[in-house]
Amino acid sequence: MPARADDPAAEATDLLRDLIRNQCVNDGRIESGQETRNVDLLGNYLEGAGLDLERYEPQPGRTSLVARIEGSDPQAPSLLLMGHTDVVPVNPDGWSRDPFGAEIVDGFVWGRGAVDMLNETATMALAFRRLADSGFTPRGSLIYLAVADEEALGTWGAKWLVENERDAVYADYVLTESGGFQVPSDVGPRLPVAVDEKGTYWSKLTVHGTPGHASQPFRTDNAVVTAAEVVRRLHEYRPPAQIGDTWRRFVEGMRYPPEFRDALLKADELRDFAGTLPVGMSRVIYSSTHTTFAPTVIHGGTKTNVIPDKVEIQVDIRTLPGETAEDVHRHLRTALGGLYDAIEIEGNDDGPTISPVDTPLWDSLSRVTGQMVGGSALVPMVYIGGTDNRYFRRAGSVGYGFALFSQRLTFEDYATMFHGNDERIDQESLALTTSLWEEVAKDLLT
Ligand SMILES: [Zn+2]
Repeated sequence: MPARADDPAAEATDLLRDLIRNQCVNDGRIESGQETRNVDLLGNYLEGAGLDLERYEPQPGRTSLVARIEGSDPQAPSLLLMGHTDVVPVNPDGWSRDPFGAEIVDGFVWGRGAVDMLNETATMALAFRRLADSGFTPRGSLIYLAVADEEALGTWGAKWLVENERDAVYADYVLTESGGFQVPSDVGPRLPVAVDEKGTYWSKLTVHGTPGHASQPFRTDNAVVTAAEVVRRLHEYRPPAQIGDTWRRFVEGMRYPPEFRDALLKADELRDFAGTLPVGMSRVIYSSTHTTFAPTVIHGGTKTNVIPDKVEIQVDIRTLPGETAEDVHRHLRTALGGLYDAIEIEGNDDGPTISPVDTPLWDSLSRVTGQMVGGSALVPMVYIGGTDNRYFRRAGSVGYGFALFSQRLTFEDYATMFHGNDERIDQESLALTTSLWEEVAKDLLT
């Protein structure tokens, strides 16, 4: 790749387009992803800078790359810039353009991963390389991690690395995806930073029935029919809203008009109010304040003329900060009523995580963004998805989800493009995000 260090937007664009085209699609199977292709690309890109690069491959093709600029003072705090290299599957029918074509249209790079999060994986590599080329000599170490398998719970990526190669990847401060969009306000853009993250409780619900001949369906115990009722109840279940600390600080920090702000802080009325807002925003508001239950996969039945005796339903459950597995079962009992005791429930509890706001990383981000975006202010936010930050928070790091996008990418765009159709990022955002990483590394580590 030609060096275009004088034009970060162009260089980040080239890198991002190559990452998109590599199609490291992670569908949850151990042999999918094959992130080694993106690691090779990034490794080649960073190699010329005389950096120390390490690769880790816990499963064939599931490679992660670590680069570091060692700090001069082992006691000084360290910073990890972490970007995942995998993307979720696409259904091209919903796209206006080839999801892996990486076309540039009107200053936007299109493709799966353009916002989640190959954009940041690319700009972090670029910032890292620019710092290395400039002879950056920080007091605390700067680490870059291009990590595999984020889209399937980090099993062969961040989780594995923190558990098995902690010294190679651990840092006091971690920056990774989520956050980065600018929300206009009367006093200047608000910049949400993900400090909390909901937990996941991915579940398998097994529904049983009694087999029989499908020519006689009257008074049978049909597992497909019961499963349909389970799915309906989960979909319609509406737990109470919870107004947590971070949600409150977020709403108050956004400088919304008073009626809007107040409505977002009233637990009793929040759901109805959210229902009146644009769909992307209403989904985010609902998920930020509720435990959520999304039935996503069903397997069941064997043959058209056999009454099925078993159906498995996979449910993506997301827990709020503070919630535990017991809370999930309490919700399920309420949602399913009498069916709760009739089904088997297996769940993988990957609980919520929280980082404090009063930290040197927060102060550093605040200083840097204050200079880059006039009148801006950081606002803490609950992240409704899961990121690799959780493994680092549990290991002791302060982990934030942040970046810095241009105002061409709105909150609504950002919310709907994650894992959605027509994912795209503008090139100005790539330049801004590159500068953010560079400036924060300089501010925090020197
Ligand atoms: Zn992501």
